[in-house]
Amino acid sequence: MKSLKLSSTLLILASLACGQFLPATTIPSVAVPSITAQSAATEVDATLEAAQPAEIVYGATARGHIAAITEQIGARWTGTEQEAQTAQYIQDTFAQIGYEPVIQPFSRSGWVDDETESIFKSANVIAVKGGESDQVIVIGAHYDSSDEGLGADDNASGVGILLELAEQLKDISTPYTIHFIAFGGEEAGLLGSQEYVDTLSADEISNTVGMINLDSLIAGDITYVYCSESKSALRDWVLSWAKLNEIALQTIPNVELSEDGYGISDYDAFDKAGIPFAYFESTNWTLGNKDGYTQVGPQYGDGGAVFHTEYDTLAYLDETFPNRVDEHLNDVIAILYNLLTQYNANN
Ligand SMILES: [Zn+2]
Repeated sequence: MKSLKLSSTLLILASLACGQFLPATTIPSVAVPSITAQSAATEVDATLEAAQPAEIVYGATARGHIAAITEQIGARWTGTEQEAQTAQYIQDTFAQIGYEPVIQPFSRSGWVDDETESIFKSANVIAVKGGESDQVIVIGAHYDSSDEGLGADDNASGVGILLELAEQLKDISTPYTIHFIAFGGEEAGLLGSQEYVDTLSADEISNTVGMINLDSLIAGDITYVYCSESKSALRDWVLSWAKLNEIALQTIPNVELSEDGYGISDYDAFDKAGIPFAYFESTNWTLGNKDGYTQVGPQYGDGGAVFHTEYDTLAYLDETFPNRVDEHLNDVIAILYNLLTQYNANN
């Protein structure tokens, strides 16, 4: 399958150059399952629908947003003018797509560095897409970044995917109502996601069937999905769907994500409120201390790390890992598009 994907990726890059979507037949991101796969399909999960050969080309729009945020705004640490500019960019994009974005401003205590706390002013940017049910599935990505590098991987990649999905799903029927949320203040201590969950009523919490967290999705060797094992339905669904459609996706069972009791990304407040989450990240748990912090071979980035380093730029990623950005974007968007149009917790 690799070679096929490679040739179609080259075609994509050509189209990216001319900034338009290629006709559907380009990325057979989902091959019609062969007999064996068919039988495997029935085994894997009868509710899964194999998506038809790709009428949709994923990732070009997301790449455009990553380029715009990293090249026009750049590093956007929590509470800075650059973070506010990014919030405006996201708000404008949601409006252009046809949503009525809601701004949720907040002022919360966070971490300037490991020792110093400070009050940060920031905001969440929220777009709501009505579904067949008014039960809610949240899909979120933080838009602030560290002040090292341009934050292409961490986390313009998550924001780009969020905005492309919001556009792709705008007029598509979905089982659940979707809250697309760009969180502010993640880097200073998960501030935006904590603010969002803190302002939910008990009814709203029980009405939220799941949270999809997107954080650092284009630099790492391998795309992973994590969850808490006691609430694994979302994770299991995407693993099955990815397997059926021959898309590379791995998980770390019983993964230990938190550090000194602190979560490491925006799933944390939802998890603590009892909401099932599926957290997507690209890294490589077989490298370094096998703790998920080494994303690539030690000869790359800063000893194998790209996020929070000067190497976190689209230019470095495209030059060092050709096709990786487009393959990761295509895979994650294909998985999430099918999850958000097919997944039903009651099935
Ligand atoms: Zn991040």
